[in-house]
Amino acid sequence: MNEHDSEIMAGMLEEIGYERKERRQDAEVLIINTCSVRENADKRFFGTLGQLKHRHEDDPDLIVCVCGCMMQQKHVVDTIDQKYPWVDIVFGTNNMHRLPHLLNDLLQSRENGEEKPEREIWDKAEGIIEGLPSERLFRCKALVNIMYGCNNFCTYCIVPYTRGRERSRSPEEILKEICALAEDGVREVMLLGQNVNSYSGEWPCGRKCDFAGLIREIAEIDGIERIRFMTSHPKDISDDLISLFRTCPKLCKNIHLPVQAGSDDVLKRMNRHYTRDMYLEEIRKLREAAPDITISTDIIVGFPGETEEDFQKTLDLVNEVRYDSAFTFLYSKRRGTPAEKYDDQIADEVMHERFDRLVDAIDTISAEKNKAYEGRVERVLVEGPSKRDKRTYAGRTDGFKLVNFTADEDHTGEFVNVRITKGRTFSLEGDLVEE
Ligand code: SF4
Repeated sequence: MNEHDSEIMAGMLEEIGYERKERRQDAEVLIINTCSVRENADKRFFGTLGQLKHRHEDDPDLIVCVCGCMMQQKHVVDTIDQKYPWVDIVFGTNNMHRLPHLLNDLLQSRENGEEKPEREIWDKAEGIIEGLPSERLFRCKALVNIMYGCNNFCTYCIVPYTRGRERSRSPEEILKEICALAEDGVREVMLLGQNVNSYSGEWPCGRKCDFAGLIREIAEIDGIERIRFMTSHPKDISDDLISLFRTCPKLCKNIHLPVQAGSDDVLKRMNRHYTRDMYLEEIRKLREAAPDITISTDIIVGFPGETEEDFQKTLDLVNEVRYDSAFTFLYSKRRGTPAEKYDDQIADEVMHERFDRLVDAIDTISAEKNKAYEGRVERVLVEGPSKRDKRTYAGRTDGFKLVNFTADEDHTGEFVNVRITKGRTFSLEGDLVEE
C-alpha cells in the first residue's frame, strides 16, 4: 500500500515538473513515506530524520517532507514538532493528494521570506480521490487500489487507526484505471486493499459488485494477462472467489493468506474471527480448486500470552500447510492498540528463540518446494535487469516465484519461458528457453 502511495506521490510531482532521482543526495525534495505497522520502522524513521538534520541546515533549498501512516498518530507529529521542527512539510494518509499544494505553499512562503513549516493532517478521508497520476516502478505491472482502510481491529494492529474505515472504490473507476494501464503496456495488475475480500463496490445504477465479481470484470480487459490481489482476510474469503482459481485463467494461482498464529486461543485474543480448523478448511478448498496454487502467509511470534504450547501449534500448522513463503514478525507493541495493554507480554529472549525456530521451519519448506521446480519450464513476466549484472534478468512466475535468468537480449515487460535449473530458498534460477 505504501509502495503504491509512493508511486502516486512521484506521479503528482512529475506532473508539476519534478523528476525522480536515484540517489538521496541529488534530490531537492525528500519525501519520507512512513509505515507504522512495526516499531522498527518507527525507529528507522527518526534515525533517518536525525541524519538529515545537518544537510537541511547546510542546504537552504532542501525541502524535507514526511507522510504516511505514522503521521496519523498525534504523538508522532508532536515529536516531530518538538525534536525536528525544521521538517518542512508533514501530511497524512488522508490528504496525500494535497502534496503539490503544500509544496507550492511552502515555496511561496520561502519566496516571501516568511517561511513556516506546513502541517496538514486530516483525521478522516473525504471520500476517495480518483484520477491521481502514478509513476510506476515497473512498466509491465501495476498496483491498483480497490479499497482503503480496514474495519477488523485485530488487537495488535494500528492500521484501522491510521488508514481509517473501509472504503471501496467504484468498479467503474477501477476498470477505467486498469483499461488505461493495459493500453500503456501493463500485463499484470495487483489489486490492493487491507482486506480485499470485503470489497463492496457499486455500479452507477446502484447494483453492488463484490470482489469475485470485480475480478471477473477485470479478466475481460484485453491486454491484462495476470490478476493478483493482496491482502485477504481468511474469515472473509468466499467460495465464489475460491472457484475463480479454477475457472479464471487470468487469476494467478497464488494467494497470500495471513494466518498470524496456529493456536485458537491466540487467534481469539488477536480478534481474528477464525479458528485454526476454519483456516485449514480454506486452504483445503484452495488446493482443491487449484492443486498447484502457491500460498504465503504472515505469522506473528510472541503475541502477549503465547505459551510454548501455542507456539507449537503454529509450528505444526506451518508443517501442515507447507507454505511457499512466509513473512514472520516478532510481536511489536503498537501504541493505542488493545494488545498494548495486555499484561502478559512475552520476554524478548523467548520471542527470539521461537522466531528462530519458526524461520528455520519455513525456510526448510521453502527450499524443498523450490527444489521441486528444478527441470520445470515456467512462464515468467520479466521485470527488468539486475542492478549488479546487466545480463541477469528477474521476473515472476504465475505463482509469484522470483526467477533469475541470464539473457543476451532485454526482455523486460515480456513473457518468456524459463527452464528452472536451481531452486533456492527465496528464488529460482533458470535458463531462457528460446521460442
Ligand atoms: S485485517 Fe487486521 S491485521 Fe489486517 S489491516 Fe485490518 S486490523 Fe490490521
